Amino acid sequence: MKLYNTLTRQVEEFIPHDKNNVTMYTCGPTVYHYAHIGNLRSYIMEDVLEKSLNFVGYKVKRAMNITDVGHLSSDGDTGDDKMLKGAKRENKTVLEIAKFYTDAFKKDCEKLNIKWPEIVVPATTCIDEYISIIKTLLNKNYAYISNGNIYFDVSKLKEYYVLTNQKNDMIVGAREDVEEDKDKKNPADFVLWFTKSKFDDQELKWESPWGLGYPGWHIECTGISIKTLGEYLDIHCGGIDNKFPHHTNEIAQSEGYLGHSWCKYWFHVEHLNTTTGKMSKSKGEFLTVSLLEEKGYDPMVYRLFCLQSHYRKQLVFSFDSLDMAKSAYNKLINKVRSIENVGDIEIEKSEEYIIQFKKALENDINTSLALTSVYDVLKADINGATKLYLLEKFDTVLGLNLLKNKVSENKTEENSDIPQNVKELAEERKIAKQNKDYNKADILRNEITSLGYIIKDTKDGYEIIKGA
Ligand code: AMP
Ligand code: ZN
Repeated sequence: MKLYNTLTRQVEEFIPHDKNNVTMYTCGPTVYHYAHIGNLRSYIMEDVLEKSLNFVGYKVKRAMNITDVGHLSSDGDTGDDKMLKGAKRENKTVLEIAKFYTDAFKKDCEKLNIKWPEIVVPATTCIDEYISIIKTLLNKNYAYISNGNIYFDVSKLKEYYVLTNQKNDMIVGAREDVEEDKDKKNPADFVLWFTKSKFDDQELKWESPWGLGYPGWHIECTGISIKTLGEYLDIHCGGIDNKFPHHTNEIAQSEGYLGHSWCKYWFHVEHLNTTTGKMSKSKGEFLTVSLLEEKGYDPMVYRLFCLQSHYRKQLVFSFDSLDMAKSAYNKLINKVRSIENVGDIEIEKSEEYIIQFKKALENDINTSLALTSVYDVLKADINGATKLYLLEKFDTVLGLNLLKNKVSENKTEENSDIPQNVKELAEERKIAKQNKDYNKADILRNEITSLGYIIKDTKDGYEIIKGA
């Protein structure tokens, strides 16, 4: 398996710490609002990464945090507290909105076939771990107390900017849009623990050796990752905006604390942009999965849209391009549905397609290339049973529900009196209905009727009957 590693800025052979078991950490959402489809692009691609690792034979132990405390609206330590802002907006407590939006995020993941990580930890549940790490950092002189807050001192590291070489532009304290914190020794120092912040109405506070307070944003991922996955992490993932300062700070504090290198591979997903720039929650205007559904798009269409391009390339979202993905998805599903499950699976013949699919994944998760394997199977000179066997296998990674509803059709498939074009129209109608495009569904029903067939909806799908 070859993966691009942001740390070394090159595609590298992936060698996990323990040769069969991979540890993988994902920065989870800040649950003060719905996830937008940009956030979900990152989670889809990370899901594909986990499933690709499984496909090539690794067992993956994956953990994700849920940021329900501590993330201020700028990625530095300034601005508003995102959770507090969300709670005020909705007249609820921080924990209420955290629960509501965590559940909403989980539902979005289900709709998009994103596997919920094995370990999911809300940041508010690991306060003791952060305190213990911060104590060590203070003892080792990596941290200092200034005016009530604890800061990490970046000048104590040999190399702080390991994930980026654009030093000057990136220094938080030197950016014009960010207010300067006079209590810091170096502009890039960051807060590990706040006891004194401008948020006097901060809802969640905990006792600590330094007084009542709450953790900084970055410490949660270090704490949760080390607690759940150990001192050596194989892969850390996130959207590209997490590279700096979040991941840079995670490395600084984790390695300062552990005294050895921590995470070997950094996997960053490029942004989903709108035609006017980056899609972001804080801008207030964003697209959600539910909104796409309301507009008649199956969430699988969005998943396919994401898989069609490489995770390291920016992707511009428009409804025109989503429509193209929708049409490709419908065609694909129709083709799969027209495959008859006949013959015995030809294992030997299937090998070359599996190898081809695997190669695409091993090539830095080249999902668009992996999709071509699907089309190759559809065209291949192999029997229906083998095609279905391969598509089912590929779908363990692609997660496009390629074979869903296949069973319910057998009744019609077996009915050889029904012509292929009628079957295809019935399939198209079914997809139109799934997409809540009832207009189109009615037109298709009329077309089927005009060809002398009647379509009857059943509990599991539909049935086609020859008209009188
Ligand atoms: P947040 O909830 O803001 O912490 O973001 C959750 C995840 O979504 C993080 O991994 C971000 O890096 C990622 N992310 C944020 N905006 C985008 C975007 N426009 N496209 C892709 N990923 C994003
Ligand atoms: Zn994180």
